[in-house]
Amino acid sequence: MDTVIKNITLIDGTGREPIPDAVLVIREARVSYAGPVSGWSEVEDGNVIALDLQGQFVLPGLIDCHVHLSGSGEADSQFSAPTGQMALKILKNAQRNLAAGITTVRDLGGWSELEFDVRRAIQRGEFAGPRLCLAGRFISITEAGAEYYSGMYRVADGVNEVRKAVREQVKNGADVIKMGVTGAVLVESGVPGTTHFNEDEVCALVQEANKFGKRVAAHAHGIDGIRKAVHAGINTLEHGTYLYQDPLLIQHMSQHGIFLVPTLKVGWDIIHAKDSTIPFWIMDKNKATQGEAASSLKLAYEAGVPIAMGSDVGTPLNYHGENALEVYWMQQAGMSVMDALVSATGNAARALGWESWLGTLEKGKVADMIVYDKNPLEDLNILADKTSLQFVMKDGLIVACHTGHHLPAQLFAKNVLTI
Ligand SMILES: [Zn+2]
Repeated sequence: MDTVIKNITLIDGTGREPIPDAVLVIREARVSYAGPVSGWSEVEDGNVIALDLQGQFVLPGLIDCHVHLSGSGEADSQFSAPTGQMALKILKNAQRNLAAGITTVRDLGGWSELEFDVRRAIQRGEFAGPRLCLAGRFISITEAGAEYYSGMYRVADGVNEVRKAVREQVKNGADVIKMGVTGAVLVESGVPGTTHFNEDEVCALVQEANKFGKRVAAHAHGIDGIRKAVHAGINTLEHGTYLYQDPLLIQHMSQHGIFLVPTLKVGWDIIHAKDSTIPFWIMDKNKATQGEAASSLKLAYEAGVPIAMGSDVGTPLNYHGENALEVYWMQQAGMSVMDALVSATGNAARALGWESWLGTLEKGKVADMIVYDKNPLEDLNILADKTSLQFVMKDGLIVACHTGHHLPAQLFAKNVLTI
């Protein structure tokens, strides 16, 4: 049976101008038509669920390329919890994403492999949840972060250990491999500008991941580490704080289609925090790096580096469900409104390597979509406004809506969340 969604303004996630008076048809969880009503021919067999959305705005479900489901925004960034509680925390945070219209999330540092169990439970239909792209553990050299984030890190020193660490993540079901190439902001003794892995280790990691057909996401702030990662052939550069220091490297990323995932929201949340429980070292390091991160995005964007949205939710005061505010901060740093939105839809799918079936509302793509009663292109903050968000669809079924809705019962998934 087809679902025909009529009378919508379609923002399809490709960067194309919005289409007023559009129609979107879903057949077997995929989009079978998305475009102007004039190009659509109605099938008169009556075997259709029709939905008139009275001019509301329909977008692809958003994709967040950098989250930590094991964190809930704890001010001191201390995520740990007993095993059972951690599994429930990961599930709860995953659901907060879905109820906010983030239908796909890429987790770049889970906890004791529990996120793989949560994904299995979601895939079996036992719980509502977003589509999960998982990295498993964050592969790091020996350093203090490994104790601070005990369930997240996999310490590996030297080429052989690095290869083994990659194989472990692949064995556990990782879709992507995450590597910490430089120091971190959210580790007390971490120096973001310092390079951690040596060139041979970075190259070995990328080679081993690619051997299994896995992409590599590299955490890197300092320019030396960014250079090593980019030249080794990573797919996405996470943070990229000091990238602005090397314009030739920016050109190289643009030519080779290496994505930048800037993660700006967390820094602004911390700097603007009234929460005095933020440790001084987290505050100081964010103040020192935030301006640099924003200028790196601006330069990379202007040079044509592909940009994907990653909010880093889970980190201090950066809450699951508020992810879409990252799109606003990317626009504030210099991206056009439409390009900022594409970074969370079509471009985000490309960053994951899933663009052939995900990320835009075009014929043949998975029917993941979000519906707003206001136009998010007029104010990107609307993307994260839960009163404006009307409902969320994943695989052609409603997975989140408000109470007291007027939506056809046949369109509901087995488990439905409240927005
Ligand atoms: Zn992160």
